[in-house]
Amino acid sequence: MKLSLVVPCYNEAENVAAFQDAVIGAFAGCGYDYEIVFVDDGSKDATYHNLKKLHEAQRCPVKVIRLSRNFGKESAIYAGLSNADGDYISFIDADLQQRPEIVRDMVIKLDEDPEIDIVAAYQDRRGEGKVLSFFKKSFYSVINKLSDVALRADASDFRTFRRSVAESLLTVAEYHRFSKGIFAWVGYNTHFIPYVAEARRAGTTKWSFKKLLNYAIEGIIGYSTKPLRIATALGTLTAITAFLYLLFVVIQKLFFGIAIPGYATIIVLILLLGGVQLLCIGIIGEYVGRTFEQSKDRPIYIAKDILTYNQESK
Ligand code: UDP
Ligand code: MG
Repeated sequence: MKLSLVVPCYNEAENVAAFQDAVIGAFAGCGYDYEIVFVDDGSKDATYHNLKKLHEAQRCPVKVIRLSRNFGKESAIYAGLSNADGDYISFIDADLQQRPEIVRDMVIKLDEDPEIDIVAAYQDRRGEGKVLSFFKKSFYSVINKLSDVALRADASDFRTFRRSVAESLLTVAEYHRFSKGIFAWVGYNTHFIPYVAEARRAGTTKWSFKKLLNYAIEGIIGYSTKPLRIATALGTLTAITAFLYLLFVVIQKLFFGIAIPGYATIIVLILLLGGVQLLCIGIIGEYVGRTFEQSKDRPIYIAKDILTYNQESK
């Protein structure tokens, strides 16, 4: 098997058949062996029903992994990856925002240059709102300052990579997954190509602002312990300031006999210190929570049904 296309699907009933058509069209006549590994990420619409039809027809080799509930895109692509047999593997969305022709170009690139392990597409220009793109930019500048791995802004997880990379990705079995970070962490030579995202074929995006914000926090907390350092620094700074102020007050009282009218000051200080303490506890809590989640050692996904095909008869 030459290539596996791993396709996470969450409520994509209207898109999956069109997606398969697009793949068949894109790879017609290029002589590659390929399979499509659809992962139904606990969809609430007819996605699984439609995937089953595609699987029965087998117009091209199709596998379907059905998760027991919605585990999120990151877990879905991990499930697909675990069931992919290709020498090359692609992550691609089901909504046809990422054209399968680009995958073909990625495969050609990998064939041509043995030095390249991953071909990753980054978005040339995003057709998204100013607010969102402002937050994305800020996110990447913050994460690159804080994090131990370098993340490229706008690089998506639309990528094609070699088997060796896939094996490495599978060894990173962490519960809180952030694939851009995982890709950066496993290393390998990555070649970036630009692509223009199409409009979604049908349905709506599954990303809400809240989900994106959570994803951003995941990226920072998951790849850096610098926030803990910041908490320490903040604590030290407050303590030093408090000590200096104490000296100041004592000197005022002893040498100049000035009575300190302190009501407002006390209130402000209590609030400030309370705030700083809660913030730092919150930061520590984020890490403790992740340690807790990881220590439970739960699986990343649970597959309810796996439909495969007979490799020999193909
Ligand atoms: N997706 C998924 N599980 C989820 C959310 C999304 O498998 O919980 C899939 C979705 O079906 C699509 C891909 O991830 O194939 C990208 O999602 P979407 O198009 O909503 O994201 P966007 O393109 O807007 O970034
Ligand atoms: Mg999309």
